[in-house]
This record gives sequence, structure tokens and C-alpha cells, in this order.
Amino acid sequence: MKMLIGGAWVDASSERTMDVVNPATWETIERVPLGGPEDGGAAVEAAGEALAGWAGQTSLDRGKVLYRTADLVRGEVDTLATTLVAEQGKPLREAKDEVRGFAHILEYYAGLASSLMGETLNTQAYGRIIVEKRPLGICVGIVPWNMPVLIAGWKIGPALLAGNTVVLKPASTTPLTTLAIGDLFCRAGLPAGALNIVTGPGETLGEALVTHPDVRKVSFTGEIGTGRHVAEAAAQTIKHVTLELGGSDPMIVCDDADLEAAVAGAVAGRFYNCGQTCTAVKRLFVFSSVADRFRALLTRKTEEIRVGNGMEAGVRMGPLNNAPGQERMRQVVEEIEGEGRILTGGKVPPGKGFFFEPTVVAGLAPDALSLREEVFGPVLPVVEVESLDEALQEANSTKYGLGASIWTKNLERAERGCRDLEAGIVWVNQHLKIPPEAPFGGTKWSGIGRENGRAALDRYTEERSILVRT
Ligand code: NAD
Repeated sequence: MKMLIGGAWVDASSERTMDVVNPATWETIERVPLGGPEDGGAAVEAAGEALAGWAGQTSLDRGKVLYRTADLVRGEVDTLATTLVAEQGKPLREAKDEVRGFAHILEYYAGLASSLMGETLNTQAYGRIIVEKRPLGICVGIVPWNMPVLIAGWKIGPALLAGNTVVLKPASTTPLTTLAIGDLFCRAGLPAGALNIVTGPGETLGEALVTHPDVRKVSFTGEIGTGRHVAEAAAQTIKHVTLELGGSDPMIVCDDADLEAAVAGAVAGRFYNCGQTCTAVKRLFVFSSVADRFRALLTRKTEEIRVGNGMEAGVRMGPLNNAPGQERMRQVVEEIEGEGRILTGGKVPPGKGFFFEPTVVAGLAPDALSLREEVFGPVLPVVEVESLDEALQEANSTKYGLGASIWTKNLERAERGCRDLEAGIVWVNQHLKIPPEAPFGGTKWSGIGRENGRAALDRYTEERSILVRT
């Protein structure tokens, strides 16, 4: 496959390529251009050339292109989802959800087209004050490999609707579905250059994009360390920056909770996408009076998860996306073995693929490393607490603040969780759901800014005040 720059499909200027490998089989499934700084520059130039034309269209016309693209995406869910399974590893059902989620995001922003407006005020002293909402200009989206399609949608949807042009860089292991969707944008009538998709390493191509003087905004999703670097680099040319970073979401299960529902929530919340979700349940706090029953149910349900190639019927958990991810899970389990008890899982199954067993761990001390740092894979630590106060204190005790959930039937406890959990998104009796309507992003070290909702549209526009005296 080639890169999309200025409406054309092109190779990298160096003519070098990189392999895309199926994480379940280790087979090379495709080659994409290994783009570098020159290719990033070409993409920014193309986005610059397209800007006036795209920004000059009405928001309703831009919305129509998003609707048409969403229709094409929905018409090709099966093909796109199959590609996503092959490059990312997730089960086909999850891949279909993700592709449909992308279409939903475009539809949501297309529906906001007629609400993209400023305001006016007549004053005695200054005449008429008109506040326009204008696009920022060229926006760069940097996307990780865990939810490559959905996260691309969080960036492309509001940016394009607001009249910006976009250069998107998918992660090196998962560029294929995004490129295929780029083709659907072209078929839907998006003008050449309004969306450019470039492939290549973050350290060279990504760096060139986030330091390019003509780029007005960078929306980055990835690890805290990379995000910090991106923010510093973008600050040199005073860009707008949105950072969607790591999380270590707590889930609190009170003694009055529906335990079966909470177990189902924990299993889905941790093992969906092989645990590689920013808002996965990464630390579970359960009241000690129900802990034995909860752990037994959780262990049983976890052992029922069928692990395998995401294309096989009945598989509920695929492999990790890449070798470092699998190696990290081995290390996490080694660290845990000295500190806690592995209730189930903990091993790499024999054979090919970056697989790891779904793992449940108990008995960790509060300062255990796997409770302090984000664990991006299928390992769920369960910690006993004596009270809601203790649960909230532990839940809030890390640098992260992305998502958090509380499971209870007691209204006062639920309200307390909503008030006191330090997170950008708080769920009551659910976890992991991120609808396009709800602003999404982290507090504390989990990020700056929001994606989704009207909030994201605001972050892809800036106000211009015009004072008119006649
Ligand atoms: P990563 O930081 O390694 O890479 C993310 C992207 O940044 C990739 O496209 C990479 O090529 C690019 N990149 C790397 N160096 C760069 C540089 N110097 N300049 C510009 N771009 C550069 O993250 P990852 O391992 O792909 O993703 C996993 C992390 O993402 C986890 O921490 C997870 O929690 C986080 N995440 C957060 C959210 C959220 O919305 N908050 C969503 C999904 C994932």
C-alpha cells in the first residue's frame, strides 16, 4: 500500500518500505512506505494547498462529505474489519465494533455542522462585535496501534468538520485500515490534500510533523513519555496541543454491587483488545466482605475466555499487537510473582503469535509496581479494601487520571464516586464505554484537552473578534 498525499497514492521519497506483520501468525501481510521528514513536509504542503478551498466550503457541505464517507465505511465493515484483525490482532467482532465506531464519529460531527457558529453583540461603545469561529489550519494527528481506526476518527472527524486540513500518522504496526479508509474519503468527494495519511517511524516522520512551522495543531495519542516530548517539540512553534495519554483506570466494586454484572464488567474492561485499551480496568478494588466470591467468579469467567487468532469463530481475545508488548507482560508477571498470587493465566502459550494468557492476580501490596505504572496487556490485579474511603484513596493514588468506575446500587456511594474519583471520565456500573457524544480525555498526567463531544470541535477552532462601527 502507498501513502495518501495531496489526493495521490505515493511511495516514500527514499523508496524504502516497512513490513506490516500479523501479530497472531507473524506473517508479513503488507509493506507500506517508510516515510521520513521529506514526506512529512510534502504532506504538510499538500494540506496547506487544500486549506483555503476546504475551509471556504460551508460546514454543511463539509458535513455531507463526512456522511458520505461514513456510509462507505459502513458498506465495507467486513473488509475493513478483516484488515484490522490482520494488522492489530483483535477479534473480528471487536474490529467490526471499532470500524462502526469510526463511522459513528463521522456521523456525529456531520450532525453538528449547522451548530458550528459564532455570535454577535451590538454595543454602544464599540459598535457591533462579531465573534467568528474559524478553523485552526493544518492539523496533525498522531495515532497509536491499540485502537488505530477509532482514534483516527476522534481526530479526523472534528478537524475536517471545522474546516481544517489534516495530516495523519498511524502507528507503524497498524497503518493498513487507516489507509483503506483514506481511499473511502477520496471516493466520498473529499478534496485532494484535505486528508493526508503518511506512514513511517515516530522518531523521524512524526517528529518532522510535530515540529513543522506550518502546522497549527497536534493531537497526539500515545504514551506519557512520547506525549511530553511531542508537547515540548510543538511548543517551539506555539502550536495547539491535545494529549491523550496513558491511564491506569481503577474499578471499585462495593459490597452492595451486582457482583455478576461487576465480574462481567471487569472481564470485558480488562481483556477487551487483549488489555491494550487506554481506559481498560487496570486496578480493581473490591470490598473485602465480598472479595472471596468476587475473585472466584472472576477467575472462572477469565478461564472461559477463548484466546486465539481473531479471525477464528468464538475467539474472545487475540494476541498482543507486538513483541515488546508480549515481553512486557512476561516481565510484569515476573515482578508480580515475588509480591502476589497469580489466580489464573500468567504464561505465553506455545506456538506463534504474540499471545499471552488472560491473567488475574491477587495479594499485591499498594506500592507494587503493577499498581503504580500502566500495564498495557491482559493482567488484572485485584486488591481488597475495607471501605469506600480506602478505595477512593487508592484509586486516586497514581499520577494517572483517565477513566474510573464505581459499581454499587447505593446512590450516595455512586455520587461520592462521581465527585471524588480523579478521572476525565467516570462510569457508574459500567466501564470502558466511550461514545462520540461524551468529551473524552484525561486529568493529571493522562492528558490535556478533550476529544469527542462538542468540546473537541471547540479545540479545532479559534475565535476571531470583529468590531464593526458603521
Ligand atoms: P507511543 O507513544 O509509543 O506511540 C504513539 C504514536 O506516536 C505512534 O504513531 C508513534 O509512531 C508516534 N511517535 C513516537 N515518537 C514520536 C515523536 N518523537 N514525534 C511524533 N510522534 C511520535 O504509544 P503506543 O505504544 O503506540 O500506544 C500505547 C499508549 O497509548 C498507552 O500508554 C495508552 O494508554 C495510550 N493511549 C491513550 C489513549 C487516550 O485516549 N488517552 C488512547 C489509546 C492509547
